[in-house]
Amino acid sequence: MNSPRSAARLEISTRQPRTFDAPRLPDGHRAPVSSYFGRHVLDLIKLREKLPREIYNALVSTLRHNTPLTREVADSVASVARDWAVFHGATHFTHWFQPMTGLTAEKHDSFADLNVQISGELRVLEKFSGSQLWQSEPDASSFPSGGMRSTFEARGYTAWDPSSPMFLVEGANGRTLCIPSAFISYHGHSLDHKTPLLRSLDALSRNATAFLKLLGDVDVKSVSATLGCEQEYFLVDRTHHALRPDFVLAERTLLGATSARHQQFEDHYFGSIPARALAFMEEMEYELYRLGIPVRTRHNEVAPMQFEMAPIFEDVNLANDHNVLAMDVARRVALRHDFVCALHEKPYAGINGSGKHCNWSMATDRGENLLDPGKTPHQNLRFLAFLAVCLKAVHDHSVALRWSVSGANNDLRLGANEAPPAILSAFVGEQLTDVIERLMKGEAAKDPEHFLLEMGVGKLPTLAKDNTDRNRTSPFAFTGNKFEFRAVGSAMNCAVPMTVLNAAAASALREMADRLKAKLGSDPKQRDQAVAELLREVFTETASVRFEGNNYSDEWKAEAARRGLPNLSDTPSALAAAMKPEHHGFLVKEAVFSQLEMDARFNVAAERYLKQVTLEAETLLDLLNGTVVPAVECQLEVTGAAWRVMSEAAGTAKGSAYGKRVIALAGGLESLPDGIAKIQAFLDGLHGGHDELAACRTLASQMRPLMQQVRANADRLESWVDDERWPLPKYREMLFVK
Ligand code: ADP
Ligand code: MG
Repeated sequence: MNSPRSAARLEISTRQPRTFDAPRLPDGHRAPVSSYFGRHVLDLIKLREKLPREIYNALVSTLRHNTPLTREVADSVASVARDWAVFHGATHFTHWFQPMTGLTAEKHDSFADLNVQISGELRVLEKFSGSQLWQSEPDASSFPSGGMRSTFEARGYTAWDPSSPMFLVEGANGRTLCIPSAFISYHGHSLDHKTPLLRSLDALSRNATAFLKLLGDVDVKSVSATLGCEQEYFLVDRTHHALRPDFVLAERTLLGATSARHQQFEDHYFGSIPARALAFMEEMEYELYRLGIPVRTRHNEVAPMQFEMAPIFEDVNLANDHNVLAMDVARRVALRHDFVCALHEKPYAGINGSGKHCNWSMATDRGENLLDPGKTPHQNLRFLAFLAVCLKAVHDHSVALRWSVSGANNDLRLGANEAPPAILSAFVGEQLTDVIERLMKGEAAKDPEHFLLEMGVGKLPTLAKDNTDRNRTSPFAFTGNKFEFRAVGSAMNCAVPMTVLNAAAASALREMADRLKAKLGSDPKQRDQAVAELLREVFTETASVRFEGNNYSDEWKAEAARRGLPNLSDTPSALAAAMKPEHHGFLVKEAVFSQLEMDARFNVAAERYLKQVTLEAETLLDLLNGTVVPAVECQLEVTGAAWRVMSEAAGTAKGSAYGKRVIALAGGLESLPDGIAKIQAFLDGLHGGHDELAACRTLASQMRPLMQQVRANADRLESWVDDERWPLPKYREMLFVK
């Protein structure tokens, strides 16, 4: 029989790695990356060459010191951008923004414009003005707004973000100039992920600079956050993907028996990269390099067909734009290689899902990493102070941080022994724990002169990265000179967790600065002593959030409960907790969100959860009704006929092994409509309800477990049905594509 599935098997087994037209040297070798890195980006180097000196200086001053941008600068940059883009084959431009859909959005306009010539005739010319660069006006009514915007005020604005450079995106037949932008409503409310991120960076910079001044670092003008995100993903053969309606609609498999071989041999992580996957990575990286995205690392991940890419870290706003763009490029390039790049947090049950570890730190305008222990006693003290800031941020704002990584898809992964649990704690390693605990005891406080030295602070050894021990199970782990926030999901826009983290740090900095000011008094000589006292307090107050052990263990769950740490195991519970003013008030206080915007975010989150789980349930019903039940019916006919022959002709008893097989098959078939009816009843019950959060809770606590039960039954039946008649590509096929 030639079913689509067996045809797919043949087709896929003969696929070859795809080659692409990479730039080559005269000797035929690949040209070095440095020769084309950033070619499709209008970066500061290019702008410096092309802009008049005073315009360039004004632009740089906007970027470095937040001086207001002028029309004159915008006009000049627009003119350079047009020439550069048109020269490189661009026909269109677009504001490129990040609405609350989790994807990016764009609306292209042609550079070509009708121009009236001196003689009065109309001619087409390429035009692009400063005001077109400055802002654009897409209809906002079709984007999620969380109820902030009524349809009669549908207007929204996208506004140029000069801190992230313009770039060219390539279509099959031309290029488009993309302008990274913020997206705000007619009334100035944020409708996107970039605006709050930029505001959180302002808050962080403001509060960190003030705190540093108190520490004696009076020259620091601004502080930024840095981000390097390790992006995990799966590759699914395109033909397999097309044969799985669940993958196509819900971006994950809702059915599928576990493959006998999966990840149990631990042979995939860092294994040699399969040839087709490597070919995909090479082409993707080429595209990313041209876009100025500094991808550095590529490797196989734990699950079969799971991979990771990681860039060199950058300023968080740029790094986030780069990550969003990289996800887009990965999806597009994968198709050329007959793959679908599955960024979903849990495409397959039973094997690891995908995350996006966000490596995060804070740096001064002089480029000093504030989480780098440093070499002098002063640098060490400053380092410990910023370590305390981070612990306080996680301790005080764990609910908001937990909420920032929630979502229907990440729920399938968090706390499942493959990703950190929903309990937020921080890991700092043995060496720092020792320093912190000695500081907390503060016995040497009697001798202020030598206090720091005796505490070990003065001689804190440089924590070489390789020196710090590792804890793979911690949601927020110190790794030598940065924290790694591991709970972020692979498909998420990490602007959301980064916004909350920046704001949490800003809030901790504000409070610590106030307390330090009160301690400092008039004698600056007492400063180190005052700082040490503050650190002792903060380390003590936040002790409950430090955990060095195995975060996957049940003992930790019990211990965390004793410590009073929240364990918000799914999105509805994280959402309900975050909605309480005491848990999100700091985001409003630090001016990252207005209260209206905050409420809108919660509405969007509930709505998305509801839509996602409902979509999964409907897709599952579709598969059960249209695929699983018919396949089992056919099988029962064959098995039943064989049974009749056996019992009539050979007298085989009902209680025989074969008899039991028939009964089990019939029983399985019988229970499917039962599950289908229950899921349907739940879906029907959801309509007409007004309390979205309550509906989310029902979905989490009842619908998802029910779907799981029905799935288990269907998966058992999968192995009883004639392999040739099972229409859906099986896990064993999808996961072991060569
Ligand atoms: P590790 O093995 O500790 O995970 P890597 O060197 O592989 O470390 O780094 C992982 C990611 O962390 C990379 O994207 C890297 O650029 C990033 N990273 C390194 N230092 C910083 C920093 N100071 N701030 C933010 N990210 C950083
Ligand atoms: Mg890492």
